[in-house]
Amino acid sequence: MNDIANSKAAVVDKLVIIGAGLIGSSVARAAKQYCAAKSIIIADQNKAVLDEAQALAIADGYFDDAGEAVQDADLVILAVPVGAMASVGEYIAAHLKSGSIVSDVGSVKNSVLLALAPIISDHVHLIPGHPVAGTEKSGPSAGFASLFDGRWCILTPPDGVDAAACSTLKAFWEQLGSTVEVMSAPHHDLVLAITSHVPHLIAYNIVGTANDLETVTRSEVIKYSAGGFRDFTRIAASDPTMWRDVFLNNKEAVLEMLGRFSEDLTALQRAIRWEDGDALFELFSRTREIRRSIIDAGQDENAPDFGRKH
Ligand code: NAP
Repeated sequence: MNDIANSKAAVVDKLVIIGAGLIGSSVARAAKQYCAAKSIIIADQNKAVLDEAQALAIADGYFDDAGEAVQDADLVILAVPVGAMASVGEYIAAHLKSGSIVSDVGSVKNSVLLALAPIISDHVHLIPGHPVAGTEKSGPSAGFASLFDGRWCILTPPDGVDAAACSTLKAFWEQLGSTVEVMSAPHHDLVLAITSHVPHLIAYNIVGTANDLETVTRSEVIKYSAGGFRDFTRIAASDPTMWRDVFLNNKEAVLEMLGRFSEDLTALQRAIRWEDGDALFELFSRTREIRRSIIDAGQDENAPDFGRKH
């Protein structure tokens, strides 16, 4: 738990979160729990989502009109799918207070920056962001306050952004328990292509392939899934809208990383065909080290089989 943050003063007065799904509702819960904002407002176009958020009592106000919600906001965080960022930005632009900060949580950064920069006025500080934390679930009930605790949050401020605004946004995420890193939007997209986007594509693909097999039945795939397959199914259960938008908006970086992946896969195919055990052993030893480094960096638990009960 982020106990230190509990005793700190609020970083902003009025926080508005647009999109009350997994990430938006988690930001609201964390901001409330760790007192990062004096008042927390949620806006969502979907009445059922808004009602669900209200029933969970995760904010101080609920709006179906994002334009109305952002009046007098100090910090606005767009937590909608990447493909919806531009239309939401366009809708709220005229209602934003001069000096306010507009950020987002989208999994792709350069397309969000390019879409929002021409829309958001020069009197508003646009600083895109991405908390590198999440689950395969969606919707307000899936959120939780500790989601960002001990996780990275990457900010991708455009050149010339106001330093004080950047410090405020950094302090906000730190209050939620994150460690903040700043990098350019294109670099973010390259890094996330290999650490997140391509792994999701591989999971979607392998689960799809298994589903289409004719020689192995679907019930056999499910029955024997503990052999490794089920770990891919968790990732492949992720939100279809969100992930469609990620691939459409990070096309170049994903294709670049997929090219590298395909080459390495071909090399593995060759090693199996030619029974090159040394090549296989060498790779599998290196990859085991990567797992160890992730655990050492506190980015996962050391429990065997992801801590499942047996
Ligand atoms: P989610 O649970 O599906 O929530 C998205 C919410 O935004 C939904 O309530 C959706 O309403 C609403 N929405 C969609 N278009 C809107 C619009 N034009 N105006 C207002 N609300 C709108 O998705 P999420 O997982 O929280 O993802 C939100 C963002 O976080 C995405 O950009 C994603 O890339 C990023 N992100 C996700 C993760 C993760 O692990 N899930 C991690 C880091 C960052 P409807 O139900 O009507 O569509």
